Amino acid sequence: MLISAAVSRAANEPPAITEIELDSPREDEVLVRLVATGVCHTDLFAAHLVPLPAVFGHEGAGIVERVGARVGKVRPGDRVAMTFGSCGRCRHCHDAAPACCEHGHQLQFGGTREDGSTTLSCASERIHGSFFQQSSFATHALGTERSVVRLPDSMPLELAGPLGCGVQTGAGAVLNTLRAPAGSSLAVFGTGAVGLSAIMAAGYANLGAIIAVDIDPERLELARALGATHAIDARDGDVVERINDIVRGGVMYSIETAGALSSLNESIVCLARRGVCALVTVPNLGEPVSFSLLPLLTGGKRLVAVLEGDSVPDVFIPRLAELYLAGHLPFDRLVRNYAFADVACAMNDAATGRAIKPVLRF
Ligand SMILES: [Zn+2]
Ligand SMILES: [Zn+2]
Repeated sequence: MLISAAVSRAANEPPAITEIELDSPREDEVLVRLVATGVCHTDLFAAHLVPLPAVFGHEGAGIVERVGARVGKVRPGDRVAMTFGSCGRCRHCHDAAPACCEHGHQLQFGGTREDGSTTLSCASERIHGSFFQQSSFATHALGTERSVVRLPDSMPLELAGPLGCGVQTGAGAVLNTLRAPAGSSLAVFGTGAVGLSAIMAAGYANLGAIIAVDIDPERLELARALGATHAIDARDGDVVERINDIVRGGVMYSIETAGALSSLNESIVCLARRGVCALVTVPNLGEPVSFSLLPLLTGGKRLVAVLEGDSVPDVFIPRLAELYLAGHLPFDRLVRNYAFADVACAMNDAATGRAIKPVLRF
């Protein structure tokens, strides 16, 4: 079928909306008509990871139009969020850790289905799709049965997309990875969509001290409105010292979402003995870092990496939707809406920080 999609042809150029061809769903696939899609930071540097030309977007939400013969989870007309892909066969998928799927990298960034075929084309040109098994910067997307999740009836589709990546990553870091108990202390470095989702989840989980760290006063104010008990502007002096002023001996938990070398170091040093740091991103796309790991060793601390909030999407995304509907996770306050035609502007606003969570509407 013919669809409109935002096709990226060069790493440093904005995508152009183009009419291209989308395959029919295969037996395990689901065709979704997009209502909205979030823009995540991974979309911004995806052109460095995925072969081009390609269509990005991995926070789609919409209505199921067709399903393959073997799909039983959803039916045409169902309202769904789209999320990351996983194989369903490897030991991590079997162990309820699909975000750590052995085929995860290929399924998110390979630009193809698992068998190497592409879902998108333009005339005879092969266009890479299947980004996070969706490529949602398009009027329609092909997901797999594993990458679509049915939503509660009252969850607005215009809003549901970010549940598939940014919100589940931040909220999952608190609720799934750290399982921070009520009354415990947490420092969140970076107040983008992931950091703020972590802060909202920490508020819901009744943590004691919830400390937001950033260099943007407006974001810090929003962090307070969303549940942070303290806000630290990292430009105003020693961050670790000020965290220690708030929680003597350091916090039990930290989440690093800022992606700077300084915040990575601080997120470890600010921990109390036996504290745990959840790492959501790394500085400079994985460039080697240089700082002492002695505080980790001498403090008996732990550093854990978090992929997609350790989410089992079929369980966690409906739970997040229910939390939103109950008023516990007001992530609509992070959203700025754009028409699909303005995809380049939305991506630019995400890159500059003008928008926390851009959402494209179709
Ligand atoms: Zn993402
Ligand atoms: Zn797997």
